[in-house]
Amino acid sequence: MREYHNPRLVISKCIEFESCRYNGQIISSAFVKKLKENVDFIPVCPEVEIDLGIPRDPIRLVEIDGKVNLIQPSTDKNLTLDMENFSKSFLKSLSDVDGFILKNKSPSCGVKAVRIYPYPENSRPKNDGKGLFASSVFKNCPFTPVEDEGRLRNLQIREDFLTAIYTLADFRNLKKRLKIKELIDFHSQNKFLLMAYNQKLMREMGNLIGNQKDYSKDYLFRDYNKLLAQALSNPPEAPSNINMLMHAFGYFSDKLNHQEKVFFLDAIEKYRNGIMPLLVCLNLLKSWVIRFEEDYLANQTFFQAYPPDLMPVTTISR
Ligand code: SF4
Repeated sequence: MREYHNPRLVISKCIEFESCRYNGQIISSAFVKKLKENVDFIPVCPEVEIDLGIPRDPIRLVEIDGKVNLIQPSTDKNLTLDMENFSKSFLKSLSDVDGFILKNKSPSCGVKAVRIYPYPENSRPKNDGKGLFASSVFKNCPFTPVEDEGRLRNLQIREDFLTAIYTLADFRNLKKRLKIKELIDFHSQNKFLLMAYNQKLMREMGNLIGNQKDYSKDYLFRDYNKLLAQALSNPPEAPSNINMLMHAFGYFSDKLNHQEKVFFLDAIEKYRNGIMPLLVCLNLLKSWVIRFEEDYLANQTFFQAYPPDLMPVTTISR
């Protein structure tokens, strides 16, 4: 059984933690509720941190002279500097964070499609973008996984997010000990996963390990960590995953009967066409890994990158 390390995630506090929305409400999320058992959360409400209070009058993003500002129309307050300063110092104070879950559409926390208005008063949005806090997160933590709770209802996005945060948490744990043998094992166990994500970076990571004598351990683990985060920041499209599925299938092709092979290839076609999650194909392969005692594949994180009880069960289109 694989041991999973709890990822450390920053989360918008109004999601399942505190009734701190502008209207004094809390956002319910079954997924975050479930994650609480498996994740160490760092909840934060940037608007409360800049003393806006609960409840408070709504704020909005307004474009002024080509720059996006955070404005409270009822008081005419421009909160841009306060939010930028808070974001900077909060993000600087963090260490060892594996990801962020932020509230969608918020002018502070929203990661995309946040309305930007031409005027503080009544007006139609002219554009959309990121909330101010979220913008700082992307700027200061460029390869750290960031999602909003709305997008995480999508199975594919959720799978990618879970894969990234659990892989990073795993590495963060082994990085504490700086043992080369553990790094080599990590690289080997993540081979299929990294090949699906980014073969070029995977080779660079392999080269780092191969040339380990040229580096101090601190630099080796730091540089490997950077490449790992970079590789995980761009989830694979279906064709890359299918390559890996077929590669793994090759281990069993002479051990399966005709119907089993047809069934698997049909599942792959359904995954390719977006009507079946990757998970189904992985589970089929996993059953053969167990049946034929294929130890090398049994250790590959590609087959179970995150705890099985977090399996997503919603829609599959991106
Ligand atoms: S979206 Fe962000 S700023 Fe708004 S209430 Fe939630 S945590 Fe606070």
